[in-house]
Amino acid sequence: MSMSASSPLLAVEGVSVFYGKFRAIDHVDVTVGGGEVVSIIGANGAGKSTLLKAIIGQADRVEGTIGFAGEDIIGRSTEAIVASGIMLVPEGRRLFPSLTVEENLRLGWDVGRKGEIGFADVWHQFPVLLQRRRQKAGSLSGGEQQMVALARALLANPRLLLCDEISLGLAPRVVNELYALIPDIKRRGIGILIVEQDIERSLAVADRFYCLLEGKVSLAGRPHEVTRDLVIKHYFGL
Ligand code: ATP
Repeated sequence: MSMSASSPLLAVEGVSVFYGKFRAIDHVDVTVGGGEVVSIIGANGAGKSTLLKAIIGQADRVEGTIGFAGEDIIGRSTEAIVASGIMLVPEGRRLFPSLTVEENLRLGWDVGRKGEIGFADVWHQFPVLLQRRRQKAGSLSGGEQQMVALARALLANPRLLLCDEISLGLAPRVVNELYALIPDIKRRGIGILIVEQDIERSLAVADRFYCLLEGKVSLAGRPHEVTRDLVIKHYFGL
């Protein structure tokens, strides 16, 4: 199905995701524009990871529509979805630990689209990875591994990045370094969907946010338009 040219980069519409008979995501609507940072917050089990899985084509049963760049991508293979410009930035620990930094990066380059971002940009933006490019990814610190995961995704010249808990287990200083890269990614017109446990950080970086509660959107808006109390209430369902 083709959608109008004016539709947002990503348009999740009326999406439900099932594990067997259990509806983990229940009629969710989420949009992300090019160059926009959108955060998904929610307690453990709210459905954040499941939503990302559905977008990247790794959920078994999905209903609704997931429009990306004007086309419905539900039912497409992960490979096809990646080739069309959506890259998942996984937790750094999910790299190939026995491959070198450079080999891990090359995987992103190989699966993606060719565009303005190349190895020179990545070495420029992550000088530490240039230093370590022949080391095995598994020998790097947690923060460096997370940088490899982000750099690998960028080398695919994505139109949309899905960031899954990229700050998990990292020192605040390292997380600051990672988040400092976001404005540059936005300037390139890349949309960013962030799933993050740390609500404060997640809201600080977001243009818009959605709070999930038991698989439904309980609150959505712009961070500066809501109070902390309101967010907490919809986060826990009080
Ligand atoms: P967390 O922050 O703990 O990762 P989350 O918001 O990402 O939580 P999901 O992992 O998406 O939540 O889980 C949503 C719901 O789906 C939960 O009730 C969870 O138990 C259930 N669930 C997740 N994965 C599976 C699975 N493979 N099989 C069955 N149920 C699952």
